Amino acid sequence: MTHIYNFSAGPAVLPKEVLQQARDEMLDWHGSGMSVMEMSHRGKAFMSIAAKVESDFRELLAVPQNYKVLFLQGGASSQFAMVPMNLLHGKKKADYINTGQWSQKAIAEAKKYCTVNIAASSETEKFTYAPKQAAWNLDPDAAYLHYTSNETIGGVEFNWIPDLSRPGKDIPLVADMSSNILSRPLDVTRFGLIYAGAQKNIGPAGLAIVIVRENLLGVPIPGTPTLFDYKVHADNHSMYNTPPTYAMYITGLVLEWLKKMGGLAAVEKNNIAKAGLLYDLLDSTEFYHCPVAKPDRSRMNIPFTLKNAELDGAFLKQAEAHGLIELKGHRSVGGMRASLYNAMPIAGVSALVTFMKEFAARNA
Ligand SMILES: *Cc1c(COP(=O)(O)O)cnc(C)c1O
Repeated sequence: MTHIYNFSAGPAVLPKEVLQQARDEMLDWHGSGMSVMEMSHRGKAFMSIAAKVESDFRELLAVPQNYKVLFLQGGASSQFAMVPMNLLHGKKKADYINTGQWSQKAIAEAKKYCTVNIAASSETEKFTYAPKQAAWNLDPDAAYLHYTSNETIGGVEFNWIPDLSRPGKDIPLVADMSSNILSRPLDVTRFGLIYAGAQKNIGPAGLAIVIVRENLLGVPIPGTPTLFDYKVHADNHSMYNTPPTYAMYITGLVLEWLKKMGGLAAVEKNNIAKAGLLYDLLDSTEFYHCPVAKPDRSRMNIPFTLKNAELDGAFLKQAEAHGLIELKGHRSVGGMRASLYNAMPIAGVSALVTFMKEFAARNA
């Protein structure tokens, strides 16, 4: 088998070491005689796994004590509804920043529960940049502000955190970090709530992680289903019902791997180096093009086009023959997209860049 580098946007590549450990522990976790998949979520063994997952996650992101970390099912998409249900707090409006398809989905869902004020949008520029905060049109009556810190499809990342602090007024900042959480250190205290589906940069599909400030919990809108109430999950340590146990276990292995790498500062350095390799190539030739404004370029998802789109098919086919897979761009944007999550080794990016240089030379 040729060595494969998987550039999928999600579900995505996992660290080889993690998969090897999972393989070794598949039939017998730590002498328990069982696979983690077979364990009761309330048993001693799994409880110890869950506790370690939470403490490692808190340690890596330096999550303060007054924040809860929840391990939920339903993906990031469930959060599109859970956020307004739990954070409107009797208000009728919420601010949203529209920077692409994931923002739009969050907005469409929020509209079922409140009036959405689009405080800023990059739609007229085909979602190729992150609107500066100075140009935002915030609603003074908004219950919270929601933005997508990394647009997985468009490849636009906020390389800064919005500042909503106003004297005597605390507007919770809410972020969908599905595709860039754990890619760099983060000041969690700036946020009211952060959520992420696991299958991009954390672990396997089936798990979503929510970080939420405790004082925002407990006043869901009337009629909120039990499972959509954050406080229920918080009060029950994410064990009100069965959490996605195996996905949590794999996530735990990934977190240990990140800690071994030296934590998020080291991870960020690595991610800057990886993204730099590809962007340098894209900017050094007319053959390839990246549509995203330079300051807002994502380190995680890098979309690019070929000057001659007729070569797209040949590019993908030849890339695959070199073991470089899942490079096709999202169907809505076309072209290519390379996702360089934490688990993508720098050797994978080097292999991609080498292939791209050779392909350009052959087809110039
Ligand atoms: C993938 C993704 C989602 C949707 O995640 P699901 O777990 O499939 O619901 C939401 N937001 C962003 C930014 C994503 O990348």
